[in-house]
Amino acid sequence: MKKYLLIIFQIILTAGVLSLQSQPNRCLADDTAAIIISKKTAATDIIKQVRINIHYMLKSDNTGNFRMEDDGDGRTSYDGYKFAFDLTQWMNNNCAFNEKLNIPTGNTISVLDKNYSFILDAVYYWPDDLTYYYQSTTPAVSKSKNMDSVLNIFLSHQDNHYKCSGYASTTSESSKNKFTENRVYWYVYKGNRATNAPFDWFMHSAGHNTLHELTHLLGLYHTIMYNDGSSCPVTSSTPSSAGTCINDPFCDDGCDDTPTAYEVMLSNGCNKHPQCGWLSSNGDPTDIDCSNNLMDYAGTVALSPCQINTIHANLEGGMKTYLLCAAVEEDVSYCDIGYPKVSYYGKEVNIGCTANKATVSNKENLFVYYAENVELLNFEVSSTASIEFILETPCEF
Ligand SMILES: [Zn+2]
Repeated sequence: MKKYLLIIFQIILTAGVLSLQSQPNRCLADDTAAIIISKKTAATDIIKQVRINIHYMLKSDNTGNFRMEDDGDGRTSYDGYKFAFDLTQWMNNNCAFNEKLNIPTGNTISVLDKNYSFILDAVYYWPDDLTYYYQSTTPAVSKSKNMDSVLNIFLSHQDNHYKCSGYASTTSESSKNKFTENRVYWYVYKGNRATNAPFDWFMHSAGHNTLHELTHLLGLYHTIMYNDGSSCPVTSSTPSSAGTCINDPFCDDGCDDTPTAYEVMLSNGCNKHPQCGWLSSNGDPTDIDCSNNLMDYAGTVALSPCQINTIHANLEGGMKTYLLCAAVEEDVSYCDIGYPKVSYYGKEVNIGCTANKATVSNKENLFVYYAENVELLNFEVSSTASIEFILETPCEF
């Protein structure tokens, strides 16, 4: 007998709470090619959900990061799975929120809905001294999972580095080598706990950094900085000193509605560079000419219409395979499901086999996205675990 579970969940996203935290260090994309922004008009009104994997890089003795069973410091009330869900939720809250661009001052640029978000696909733990340290090796080669359809996020460590910061591998929509490596999140978490600081401070630092790096992978560049994060335009003293505006035509993100640093500085007599620092642009109306763009380092999340269109154009084009809607176009069968995979996808989804009971147990918190129906055969969910079945529409583009 077939059992159907048709449960539609509406995800209610609320605007994220901004908090005080120091500015993260510089990230960089490795692109050396010319900046390419798609001019194709995309369906920005169609919500696009992008699959992500989160990888915890641990020391070989299973210390030094969030773990499967605890927070890495022995607290079982928090663990790597919970942080992975919190990180995804923080990013989705801030994808559900847009704000008016601060620059150019006095602009009337539309504030559009972003309509993209993330789905946590799986969580991996890697006890391995060789990959524990930030860019000590190339983790994407040995540890990445499903690189052609999931963005891989690596959380690693660096000695004597104290701020959440990261690296994005590429902005190319046609690349399947898409990963971001991010450092010292766990270290910042430990400091947050040790000082009893608001947990939002830690989440804002880690969440903003991860969202910024993922949005590089979706095709965006810094708007007032070079790829390596240095201010532009530059002179021998960075940023350029008063009265000396330098126009570097290569310092441009390709979007006409995000002003260059040169354009902003021309308007203020070359007195103020728009890269003003972490949260400098937030809440102070007298502090003008400071970028609050997600792709700069202000800790804020504004995106322009061109930037939003670029993300959607890439997701409709070369990056379509990364979308949830593309993952529910084929029938699938699973004899068992569970961690490290968090999310499962299919058009018709069969779970459980005659000879093998599919069990969802321990603290597993799973999601099944399906386009037509789910059939459960020989299936069990323990009282400590959960599973949600979510109806999803295949891609409409
Ligand atoms: Zn960046």
